[in-house]
Amino acid sequence: MSYNKKSIEDIDVKGKKVIVRVDFNVPLDANKNITDDKRIVGALPTIKYLVDKGAKTILVSHLGRPKNGFEDKFSMKPTAVRLSELLGKPVVMASDVIGEDAKAKAAALKDGEVLMLENVRFHKEEEKNDPAFAKELSTLAEIYVNDAFGTAHRAHASTAGLADYLPAVCGYLIQKEIDIMGKALSNPARPFVAILGGAKVSDKIAVIENLIDKVDTLIIGGGMAYTFIKAQGNNVGKSICEVDKLDLAKSLLEKAEKKGVKLLLPVDNKVGKEFNNDTESSIVCSTQIPDDTMGLDIGPKSIELFSNVLKDAKTVVWNGPMGVFEFTNFAIGTKEIAKAVAESGAISIVGGGDSAAAVEQLGYAEKITHISTGGGASLEFLEGKVLPGIDVLLDK
Ligand code: AMP
Repeated sequence: MSYNKKSIEDIDVKGKKVIVRVDFNVPLDANKNITDDKRIVGALPTIKYLVDKGAKTILVSHLGRPKNGFEDKFSMKPTAVRLSELLGKPVVMASDVIGEDAKAKAAALKDGEVLMLENVRFHKEEEKNDPAFAKELSTLAEIYVNDAFGTAHRAHASTAGLADYLPAVCGYLIQKEIDIMGKALSNPARPFVAILGGAKVSDKIAVIENLIDKVDTLIIGGGMAYTFIKAQGNNVGKSICEVDKLDLAKSLLEKAEKKGVKLLLPVDNKVGKEFNNDTESSIVCSTQIPDDTMGLDIGPKSIELFSNVLKDAKTVVWNGPMGVFEFTNFAIGTKEIAKAVAESGAISIVGGGDSAAAVEQLGYAEKITHISTGGGASLEFLEGKVLPGIDVLLDK
């Protein structure tokens, strides 16, 4: 899917009330301290632009999964405080979303001021994309900006519905996702290499099917590789394996061959007897996995094979760890691939929580062209699906 959408730079925002859907769904500890403010920091370029241009900025987001209306533990208040610190200016906090307080505070905003609404999911109408709710929310503003890529694959009132009532454009975060991911998928610099990992083939079927038509090389590692290794007629011992997906794996292997796409699987593995970090481990070839072991990481030869392919790549998309990286003894494959992606010099896109975390923890984030901010949304992008939160925005 490639999008060409209007952004905040394509419209006049001066003196206008602009409602911005941000993703401030940040982790909080028991005392409601924000433990990671990455998402708030990520939204700063859009907010600062609007402030500098003299817009009246109204922010709306969800946080957590509130069930029954207002719950203090899901209040947006801590995010408004943090944003105010980061911006170096006050952020007004509304005590509701479409109630009297929000309406009065939105109406009183002066140019360059910022208002944060309460958690939009305090209204069950949000996730139902209820038109009456979206309409009511839209009355607070004159322009709608979507900058929450993490929820762009959901058609909710604040992520899509608002566009029925207001001119809608994207912020910098979504614009970056569309520009970089969209270009990689529609017009990639070649060779284009995708690396997929993670636990299950079933979660990534649509991604594999979409990418097989676009890439030059597809590398499959992690737990999902064992279904393919088994489909090639090998024994995978106690490794995670989806027997109901063996035929699919076979057909994907055949499809890749027919299309001239190189599909690479691990040639060796670090196996363990049990699913824990301290289990007795050994390195075995993929054709010789003992019955009483399970593959928990890719082995050194696979790391070398995959890294060599990455060296020549011009575009790399990576989603999913190469092994059970939560266990330090089985994290080497994921770490080495993170390094190879970072050092490839290619346009590199890392999506999905685990691979993005690996890249960040290892200090390679700077060397990655783009770390996608939305796990589910970036997977759906890679699947070639239409993302409702982007689709509704005005075309250029
Ligand atoms: P996903 O959410 O699909 O990207 O999968 C991530 C999960 O896959 C992580 O929790 C990993 O521990 C798990 N995983 C990766 N490799 C393996 C493996 N060889 N066996 C079992 N689980 C794995």
